[in-house]
Amino acid sequence: MLFLDKHEIQERICALDVEAVWSKIDALLPPDKLTCRADVSELVMTALEKFIAQFPGEIAIDLVEDWINAPLEGGYNFRGIVDAAGWHRVDGRVSRFVIDFKTSSGALDWRWRSKLNMSMQPRLYMSAMDADRAYIVGLTTREDFSGNNIEILTYSKSDTLNEDVRRYLSQTIKLYEAVANDEVFPQNRPTACIGASKCHFYEQCLSGTMPRKAPERIEHWSATSLQMFHECPERWRRIKCGEQPEPTQNMIVGSAAHLGIATCLRQIWELPEPETDLPLLTSISEEATQ
Ligand code: SF4
Repeated sequence: MLFLDKHEIQERICALDVEAVWSKIDALLPPDKLTCRADVSELVMTALEKFIAQFPGEIAIDLVEDWINAPLEGGYNFRGIVDAAGWHRVDGRVSRFVIDFKTSSGALDWRWRSKLNMSMQPRLYMSAMDADRAYIVGLTTREDFSGNNIEILTYSKSDTLNEDVRRYLSQTIKLYEAVANDEVFPQNRPTACIGASKCHFYEQCLSGTMPRKAPERIEHWSATSLQMFHECPERWRRIKCGEQPEPTQNMIVGSAAHLGIATCLRQIWELPEPETDLPLLTSISEEATQ
């Protein structure tokens, strides 16, 4: 395990092979989407310099963009991608943490914080990874934002974490099985999203013309998918039926930034490159469900 202190991390950030990072992103981004290099570069450097380098003590990152799997009751499976996980070492004490990077086109304000604080996502990852802490690192691409372009939320393991997560998963599966039949699937109206940004399906919801089609049985659930199901089952259903919205520029920038951060973390902590990267457009479509 390679533990590095703040000074060593900073030195390694300065020595990064940036061209290797860009060649990975260029290879995965469609040619007509290569206009966002500056945005991606800024997000990657912000994430590295303002977040990674601020840890107290030393840190070792040992897992970058990797799958976690956990069986759920009823033959279902929890499957998610962990952006990064590692270990803190402070005064000889070592503890596990997980990191989830989130890019946003909006302000990282109280609405953003409230949504994430209500989310089970960091708790799911802490439980699945047996971690003591989870960090959500928000990065905004909003140009007119005069505040920080990074916001860090920290979550600590509670005594009831594993039981809370078990109940959440079990109850969600029960809800899903109750609505999985097309005839009873909730036909939401936009009152469900008043005050929030309109989603891609707004006009059809407004006119009540959503096509009625149930997705195939969903066996694998990610943290994002679980959250979406709770937020709006109608939107979840449409996306699971294959109605992916066109990726927005923000989604493309966000996904490219994830890949850039992952590549940099592997360089800094001398981790092997994966045989195949996650397809960028797959991660974009996953973001579309957020
Ligand atoms: S699918 Fe849900 S979030 Fe989207 S417009 Fe309809 S009610 Fe609102």
